[in-house]
Amino acid sequence: MPDNIAALLLHWYDANARTLPWRAPPGEPAPDPYRVWLSEVMLQQTQVASAAPYFERFTARWPSFAALAAAEDAELMAAWAGLGYYARARNLLACAREVAANGLPDTEAGLRGLPGIGGYTAAAVAAIAFGRRAVVVDANVERVVARLFALAEPLPAAKPRIHAFADSITPDARAGDFAQAMMDLGSMVCTARAPRCLLCPLRAYCAGFAGGAPEAFPVKKAKAAKPRRYGTMFWAQRGDAVLLVRRPARGLLGGMRALPTGPWADSPPGLAGAPLAGDWRLLGETVRHGFTHFGLECALAAARIAAHETPADGEWWPVAEIESAGLPTVFAKAARVFGRVLCA
Ligand code: SF4
Repeated sequence: MPDNIAALLLHWYDANARTLPWRAPPGEPAPDPYRVWLSEVMLQQTQVASAAPYFERFTARWPSFAALAAAEDAELMAAWAGLGYYARARNLLACAREVAANGLPDTEAGLRGLPGIGGYTAAAVAAIAFGRRAVVVDANVERVVARLFALAEPLPAAKPRIHAFADSITPDARAGDFAQAMMDLGSMVCTARAPRCLLCPLRAYCAGFAGGAPEAFPVKKAKAAKPRRYGTMFWAQRGDAVLLVRRPARGLLGGMRALPTGPWADSPPGLAGAPLAGDWRLLGETVRHGFTHFGLECALAAARIAAHETPADGEWWPVAEIESAGLPTVFAKAARVFGRVLCA
């Protein structure tokens, strides 16, 4: 059965592979490892449709490890803005610099030692860029495997078994195509909500389909509600410019340009932490954003600033060009609300 699954899936992939900017067509030589690595890092927590325009911009501006390694930290962080999970951007740069100095390992084990490359990314790059047999399990693959084998054990405890089952169906040849075929099947056919089993090349071997309720897999443990934190974002305007700050390198959205904020707290902190003295007023608007470990709810406060001081790590940015500041999503959202309320 495992050999049949690989053969059926590769046959399906030859006719149905998605065309993606970082990919080689089925059966063709692997693309530049730089492009494979960059796409896999971008796709770690981001959907294909959101990552693709970033990928095009990055490869046009920095076409190789050497070019990316020479980028300024701030320049790279601004280009990454909007993709989220900013530790990825810092690791991306650290990894590019290490590869530019020492070369890119071509094995899964060698790749794992690089900044920002965990088990999944190492396996994906080894398989897709270097044709090495590797077991590549992302969320799509996890879902396909859990359904194929009707795994009753809930995630995340089931991960080792899913990996073992994925290993059992991974072929020695065309490792990169097989990995991408599994991802494509999960994204186009074996979808989370309504799997299109009648179009699936693996239907005859699928225990989830045979049981009549494939969408019940993977079984998930009930999630605990995320804690909620509160904060305030400050819009300090002097003339036609607004105060932006560089967030501390470590911590949430580290190193990113942002609107000043007060402390994150368990209840709304009001005007605590305003960046400069001023006639601050709360606007009665809030911006909400979901981070991995907590939900953030921020009040918005604004003031016109007359004094000529600038806080450490601050800069005055033209309000009309706020969209080019490279603000992370939560601050870009807030800037739009400020723009709407203050211009009304
Ligand atoms: Fe997924 Fe259905 Fe195919 Fe099974 S038959 S792998 S549930 S799409």
